[in-house]
Amino acid sequence: MAIRILPPDVAAKIAAGEVVERPASVVKELVENSIDAGAAFIRVEIQQGGKRLIRVMDDGCGIPADEVPLAFARHATSKLDTVEDLNCVKTLGFRGEALASIAAVSQLTLSTRPATQAAASRIRVEGGHQVALGTAGSPAGTIITVENLFYNVPARLKFLKADATEAGHIHRIVSHYALAYPHIRFTLLSDNRTTFQTSGSGQLFDALAAVFSLETARQMLEVAGQEVAPELPQPIALYGYTGSPSLHRGMRDQIVFFVNKRWIQDRALNQAVVQAYHTFLPVGRFPVAVLNIELDPAQVDVNVHPTKAEVKFQEPRLIFKAVQRAVREAVVAAAPVPSYGTHLTPSATTFTGHAGDPGVWSSAFHGHSRSEAGQFGFEAQRTLPFPSPGNDGLEDAWPVGDESASKKLPPMRVVGQIQQMYIVTEGPDGLYLIDQHAAHERILYEKLAAQKAKADVPRQQLLEPAVVELSPGHAAIVESELEVLIGIGFEIEPFGGTTYRLRSVPEMLKQAEPAQAFIDIVAEIADGAIPLAKETHEKIAITVCKRASVKGGQVLSHEEMRELVRQLETTVAPRTCPHGRPTMIHLSGAQLAREFGRI
Ligand code: ADP
Ligand code: MG
Repeated sequence: MAIRILPPDVAAKIAAGEVVERPASVVKELVENSIDAGAAFIRVEIQQGGKRLIRVMDDGCGIPADEVPLAFARHATSKLDTVEDLNCVKTLGFRGEALASIAAVSQLTLSTRPATQAAASRIRVEGGHQVALGTAGSPAGTIITVENLFYNVPARLKFLKADATEAGHIHRIVSHYALAYPHIRFTLLSDNRTTFQTSGSGQLFDALAAVFSLETARQMLEVAGQEVAPELPQPIALYGYTGSPSLHRGMRDQIVFFVNKRWIQDRALNQAVVQAYHTFLPVGRFPVAVLNIELDPAQVDVNVHPTKAEVKFQEPRLIFKAVQRAVREAVVAAAPVPSYGTHLTPSATTFTGHAGDPGVWSSAFHGHSRSEAGQFGFEAQRTLPFPSPGNDGLEDAWPVGDESASKKLPPMRVVGQIQQMYIVTEGPDGLYLIDQHAAHERILYEKLAAQKAKADVPRQQLLEPAVVELSPGHAAIVESELEVLIGIGFEIEPFGGTTYRLRSVPEMLKQAEPAQAFIDIVAEIADGAIPLAKETHEKIAITVCKRASVKGGQVLSHEEMRELVRQLETTVAPRTCPHGRPTMIHLSGAQLAREFGRI
């Protein structure tokens, strides 16, 4: 075939393919345009996973009537003038390609009105061809309706996934922008149902709660950091939230980055966050984090990817270091025992109390914790080379210092028990009150996690199988989670209707009345007492440990208390129970002296 220039509409469809891959790409481009237009409110509506319809409505600046047709021309943008402008892009869009691309592969209607204009302009474009242009009544702002995406590109249409999958991608996009722009009120409707909403309060915490659940948001720690370096004309600022060590996931897809408020994907930065949790998380588990990186726009090239999902930093190492350091600081600051007088609600600010000088007891603790390490299966993490104390650890090959091992728990002497609920201990700097139930939950949880990781959860066979009858709702939970329940040590088989035969339970439940323990655990899972965002197997593990652990009201012998404290010292995250509540509070020598008027 001879060489020839492609007809314009073929070229347009090819170019569109770069920007528009699936309905979620359309939503991304339209939401970005609304944000660039200064919207305070953005409403996204989809039908059939966006395949049938995508409508994005905003209260932004609108497009002046005389510019409306131009907005659909390729390389038409109001955001960039000269090549030099590319060095300091402050808007999300700048390529002037999105509207042209979307219009080339769909049937699109746009109504837009700047607040100063009396009537809105309305334009209809089908497959890249303008079919109508006129005026209409419409609120100030812009409404874009994209119908029948890829109706003229059957090859693409074929590759779209099920409605629910496409809707899931859209949900991810909208929720990420909601995190980057907490002052914008977002609403997402899918097939006429509101599936996601933020308040636009301006508080990142509120957006986190909307995206991840309030319970998860409460388990997150504030991150704030700055990196100053001679190579940087302006410092890099870092802020956001990162999960407390008790909050972790099986995948790393809940680590979210924004660079100058642009959502980006960057494997190296992901790794920086994961490394910052070194020794804090069980093997194979990943943190949850939402981090904003603000830097001089000249330090980052956003024009390396058609959908702008990846960026190129001029000083990637500095950014890596800044992220790692800031996250590490937040996590380590959360590790000290919350002291008397600070808030004890499990909120983001709970654990920000300062540790005493770790040097006082670090040597004593080091030997102890190392010799005990491994009991619960965390050898792999602990035997990595630790930089010596004093080194901030960020320069070497293994860039994270192991502050955790020395700051985790001081050596403690058990004094006694009060209210049959709290263990009183003395440490190098004052008094510690340990919640025996929360502490035991933490111990059992890590033990179970290690056993599960090795697929070796010991089970206790019942001498005689117990027959349990469940409500239909609870039976449905057992059916859907059968595999997880079996994996954790419950051997169950259907016994007709909603009745089951229980042959074994996890070994840690052997003291409990097995049938009743099983019924209670299923009820608790049904109850949803554990944060929804946690994965089911985690919820079940937490519930089992809760059931198996010593309760308040149980008198403990001195020996039992010593053993409990000793085991707590060997855990990876001794300061919080699996629900994220503190296991202990600290009353320092100085605080005691103050209370008694000695100083
Ligand atoms: P880009 O965002 O890269 O400039 P687009 O094709 O996405 O390119 O949009 C073209 C132009 O249309 C934008 O530069 C902007 O001026 C205008 N525009 C698009 N969407 C909106 C909107 N929601 N509100 C106001 N103006 C808009
Ligand atoms: Mg755009």
